[in-house]
Amino acid sequence: MKTLYLRRGKDASLRRFHPWVFSGAIAGSNGPIEEGDVVRVETQDGELMGYGHSQVGSIAVRMLTFRDEAIDGAFWRNRLAEAFRLRKALGLTGRADNDIYRLVHGEGDRLPGLVIDIYGRTAVMQAHSVGMHVSREAIAQALVEASEGLVENVYYKSETTLPFKADLHQENGFLCGHDEGNVAVENGLRFHIDWLRGQKTGFFVDQRENRSLLEHYAAGRRVLNMFCYTGGFSVYALRGGAELVHSVDSSSKAIDLTNANVGLNFPDEARHKAFAEDAFKFMGQADAGYDLIVLDPPAFAKHRDALRNALKGYTRLNAAAFEQIRPGGILFTFSCSQAVSKEQFRLSVFTAAAQSGRYVRILHQLHQPADHPVNIYHPEGEYLKGLVLEVE
Ligand code: SAH
Repeated sequence: MKTLYLRRGKDASLRRFHPWVFSGAIAGSNGPIEEGDVVRVETQDGELMGYGHSQVGSIAVRMLTFRDEAIDGAFWRNRLAEAFRLRKALGLTGRADNDIYRLVHGEGDRLPGLVIDIYGRTAVMQAHSVGMHVSREAIAQALVEASEGLVENVYYKSETTLPFKADLHQENGFLCGHDEGNVAVENGLRFHIDWLRGQKTGFFVDQRENRSLLEHYAAGRRVLNMFCYTGGFSVYALRGGAELVHSVDSSSKAIDLTNANVGLNFPDEARHKAFAEDAFKFMGQADAGYDLIVLDPPAFAKHRDALRNALKGYTRLNAAAFEQIRPGGILFTFSCSQAVSKEQFRLSVFTAAAQSGRYVRILHQLHQPADHPVNIYHPEGEYLKGLVLEVE
């Protein structure tokens, strides 16, 4: 077995179940190790710490287990069965009105580097590590078995998520079954999921509960859904009785998807209009008198070094919304940047509010839902945060 030895004193975080071993913690190995190999991790005294996937870079190992067990078909089946048990406990499986949920959220499900979203009978799987890529066939097989009939098709979509230097020539495609019919249901609303070409696994599953909350505020309001992508918030606002809904995204493909999803739920809907435009440009010119605005931009800070500019970006964006929104309006504002903390995000929104000179109250503090669990030993898994604000 390929084995890595830790430097003396570098075992403390592993004893607390932190799932990463940094390269500086490693003293040596018993032979050559390739990226993606399953490795045994031991202290210098030969005490077993567990097994994980090796990586190139500052994170050298992502731990799969802290026990003495083989990483084989039974291991993947057990982990995935555990993931299904949690989603069942959350009331997300076996529902006719909702068949979209996240089954595996990386470290939060003790499967570092793996993401799996469920859309009806199809699972869309993404590897963020070479180790998960190497194991993809075994994982897909175990997934179908562990699902006990819930999942028939597994689509693998890692073209853009794997480290490009690994040069794996990965292609997107079905590992099990096949499914081109791509309509799934979230809280009784239907969505086309473009898992073949769409961003992430095709849909932003993490906003389900926040979309529901928005629906409750929508009655009689004039809604602006900025950064709409698939139009999720727009469709909920329409069901909630909005007077009008404007969806904006700079990508014309996103606008087509939004129009298709609105049409799927509300054919010939006259209350909805979609615009392929830049967010800042649109808000600078808008005169529709919105009293419910959603800001759900892409991650402004993908890395820590981009943090300062990202915070300025959030301030500028929110300032534009405070300028635009009618008295008594409600603002749903989000950040999905992992590198931006809850406090930093709140401070950047505070700055925007203060600039506007308007009286602002926090009604809700939002976060990712329970099917995106955060491993308490790995707080880095927390990324989505939002505020619902009332603007005087
Ligand atoms: N709110 C969506 C997810 C948003 S993803 C949901 O609930 O599913 C972010 C979106 O922002 C992408 O679709 C991207 O095309 C769009 N985007 C990125 N930069 C933009 C800009 N400057 N102006 C408008 N849209 C932009």
